[in-house]
Amino acid sequence: MIDAILNLLFPQPCILCTASVLQRRWSVACPECWSKLEAIPHPICIQCGDHAPAIESRCGPCRRGDHAFDLARSLYLFNEPMRGIIHQLKYADRVSLAKPLRQALRDCVASEGFEAKVVVPVPLHRARARARGFNQAELLARQLGLQVNTRLLRRRKNTPSQTGLSRSQRTLNLSAAFEVCGKPLETVLVVDDVYTTGSTLHEIAKTLKRAGVQRVEVLTVARVLQRV
Ligand SMILES: [Zn+2]
Ligand SMILES: [Zn+2]
Repeated sequence: MIDAILNLLFPQPCILCTASVLQRRWSVACPECWSKLEAIPHPICIQCGDHAPAIESRCGPCRRGDHAFDLARSLYLFNEPMRGIIHQLKYADRVSLAKPLRQALRDCVASEGFEAKVVVPVPLHRARARARGFNQAELLARQLGLQVNTRLLRRRKNTPSQTGLSRSQRTLNLSAAFEVCGKPLETVLVVDDVYTTGSTLHEIAKTLKRAGVQRVEVLTVARVLQRV
């Protein structure tokens, strides 16, 4: 009630378009901007979840073995409003932005064949975690209402951005970037903010499987489509 009155008296500007945000449940973006988020267009590959026109089951890269994870899904396309939301989530300490995403994350886990009971956020390297103060992947992982394990997977290398690298450069950049600490679980759900090329998640899945994890599932909020 007090929140509602305060919001009416002092509406927050939307961080994306500056329109007034009158209800706190929308966090710091306005309903209009939230409504511009777009789902991944179907049909999708049953394994990696990428859009693949006229596909029957698995896409070429999945059939070639480029994706060591068993199942990957993303909620939205990495379009302009999504880019803004992820940016704010990552760099501006807008932790409240994770909450409006909560139901969509939970619905996806419930409807897309996810089996894991333990969630592992993609870890940041220690240096980056210290600089940023928090891990946006962990923030998202905590919205699922499942057990979150932040110790199983560790980032050994502070890998530079994968953007603009060729496939072989990405592989080199990522080799031995992660390690498993402690006893592996049978099934793990790895959560991150954006699925870009899938190479980081592939590397994580390989590392987890080498350590004895049987099934690796992946959930991200946004995705850059590989084939348009
Ligand atoms: Zn807006
Ligand atoms: Zn695929």
